[in-house]
Amino acid sequence: MLVGGEICRKNAVALWRFFDYNERTQRPVPEVGPLAKLSDPVTILKGVGPARAKQFANLNVLTLQDLICHFPRGYEDRTRLVPIAALEPDVPACFRAMVMNTPRCSHIRKGLDLTRVQVADHSGRLNLTFFNNRFAAEQLLYGQEYIFYGAVSGDYAGYGMTNPSFEAPDAPAVTTRRVLPIYPLTAGLTNAAVIRAVTQALAICDPPEEILPEPVRNRFHILPAHQAYLSIHQPKSMEEAEQAKKRLIFEEFFVFSAGLSLMRSARAQTVCAPYEGMDLTSFYEALPFRLTGAQLRAVEEILGDLRKGTPMNRLVQGDVGSGKTMVAAAAAVCAARNHKQSALMAPTEILAEQHHASFKKLLEPLGVTVELLTGSMTPKQKREARERIAAGVAMLTVGTHALLTDATVFACLGLVIADEQHRFGVAQRAKLSAKGEAPHLLVMSATPIPRTLALLMYGDLDVSILDELPPGREPVDTFLVGESYRPRINAFIRKQVQQGHQCFIVCPAVEENQELGIKAATVWADTLRQTVFPDLRVSLLHGQMKGAEKEAVMTAFARGQADVLVATTVIEVGVDVPNATLMVIEDADRFGLSQLHQLRGRVGRGKAKSYCILTSHNRNPETLERLKALCKTTDGFRIAEEDLKLRGPGDFFGARQSGLPAFRMADLSYDLGILKQAQEASAAWIDAWDGSDTPEAAALRRRIAELFQRSQGTMN
Ligand code: ADP
Ligand code: MG
Repeated sequence: MLVGGEICRKNAVALWRFFDYNERTQRPVPEVGPLAKLSDPVTILKGVGPARAKQFANLNVLTLQDLICHFPRGYEDRTRLVPIAALEPDVPACFRAMVMNTPRCSHIRKGLDLTRVQVADHSGRLNLTFFNNRFAAEQLLYGQEYIFYGAVSGDYAGYGMTNPSFEAPDAPAVTTRRVLPIYPLTAGLTNAAVIRAVTQALAICDPPEEILPEPVRNRFHILPAHQAYLSIHQPKSMEEAEQAKKRLIFEEFFVFSAGLSLMRSARAQTVCAPYEGMDLTSFYEALPFRLTGAQLRAVEEILGDLRKGTPMNRLVQGDVGSGKTMVAAAAAVCAARNHKQSALMAPTEILAEQHHASFKKLLEPLGVTVELLTGSMTPKQKREARERIAAGVAMLTVGTHALLTDATVFACLGLVIADEQHRFGVAQRAKLSAKGEAPHLLVMSATPIPRTLALLMYGDLDVSILDELPPGREPVDTFLVGESYRPRINAFIRKQVQQGHQCFIVCPAVEENQELGIKAATVWADTLRQTVFPDLRVSLLHGQMKGAEKEAVMTAFARGQADVLVATTVIEVGVDVPNATLMVIEDADRFGLSQLHQLRGRVGRGKAKSYCILTSHNRNPETLERLKALCKTTDGFRIAEEDLKLRGPGDFFGARQSGLPAFRMADLSYDLGILKQAQEASAAWIDAWDGSDTPEAAALRRRIAELFQRSQGTMN
């Protein structure tokens, strides 16, 4: 599925045509090169047979276009030519020297042959040693000059150089006298093989088309596309490589920002019937508490959106426990009053079930029927739920990805709510939205996102912030301890349980041996049951368990039928057990700060004082410093900023959960300056664009579709 493909047909908004790439992906890219097309498979290259193609496929390189977009991860500057006397130990450099003797080969033992040769220039002599390199022995001729590249080092055999690269001075510069690109590789594929393939590809087809208008390039000093693609692979200098890199980063940000702004303006141009009669008095009266000022403000902002007559697009961002769920409930009530269905997409089954249960209790008395739809329900249950959804009986459906499948059809979907948004990508939001006629969109995120990142991830959304916790919440006291505290931790767990409370214990792994020395939930649960707390009720929850099993464990724990829950990060999101007062996180250094903060948010949800204990074997002062930051503050925004600084956005939410697009080049930790420029440029471009389908616009559209499609894997 591609972003907006379906929406496009529905809305017929000119802007949406940008996303109408779905049906056209099959269309061949226009003939661009004299010999080959970018869409041709890599196997048309010389030296790329089925085996090599398979290696490339491991790197997601299938076509020439993929190959040309397989950018180096770094460079070796081999342009510097120095005299032998000026070579510095361990600093690789090129030098030109004459072979002073016939290379001598010696067989040391099976599998180890040495070739030794002495070379010299005007400044000095140098002994070279090659291991298992018959080629060197054959090629290096006494009395001839070559260009070498390598680093000198002193070892037992004296000062010398091992395994330098070399070429004849009149041979093409492939491994010496150039800036050598270093590519991401995979087993069996050498850097040299990638270089050969890329060089061929660049020679037989034109690089991807230009999408940055000339005025933009001039203004921000950006290389033209064809030059950037050449320079990124074959730079003449490190500066040229930098220039190329800047251009490609700029381009990615430009495409991404353009995609987001287009979605936003497409929605601004879409109309829907304004909602009416949204008196929420009965809803407020049904609540067991009064909404906080921040919650009320967010609800007001939502009501404002719903009255407008264009689809709402709002992010509600608030720290764990700030009460986002009730804000969503209010919105669903408004939709139901206007005879529109709502769908709430939760990232895990457990969370979906929990939301379902609490909404049912709260909303059904108000006349809003609540439905559940998750992947682990039986086929019969799912079918029946889908029937009620299709018939328009179910007014609020809570579910997981099962909501997205084609089998789920809504009678009149008016409001889409995505909980814990960072688990969902723009593409999935779009897919769910496409099930209604321009439905309102409400996104809820518990992870406080630093402004810079928020700009990227939610650039297309309006934002409400819940900056206030419900009254009576005390901050969770957090401690960082080493293994020597184990008896005290265990005693503390016991004490909490004796006081009638419950404890979470989070482990970084499910099973032993996934990584040595890391606490595994299954093993640790066994140990606790058998030796430490034989008298307590210890249960186990991890992601590899079946949906129904997980549900049973979680429900039992939430009902107080277990004292200690040993779990993996499956409990990270949303689960609400107000009676849990202690969270022990084992090997806390294995988690990101924001993730730890999320986990910690599972406690401190009730009236009783709550605690979080982080354990770590790690002795790295930086790691410990990082964890101590968590003990000092409970301000999610500050923690997030810290995390971003320390780990970079790729790791920000833990592996594969970043919700960020799969940029090939751009790195948000370093390139935020370029991001700002690109956003400015894309905004200006869109302002100036008259909506017509120029070649430039078509090219940009293709690139937007491509980026969002490629990002689906990481945005799930
Ligand atoms: P989150 O923002 O993390 O999703 P929830 O919506 O799950 O937070 O709310 C956390 C807990 O606080 C829930 O038990 C909820 O019932 C309770 N809660 C929400 N709003 C209020 C409020 N205004 N006053 C008291 N408790 C509240
Ligand atoms: Mg929540």
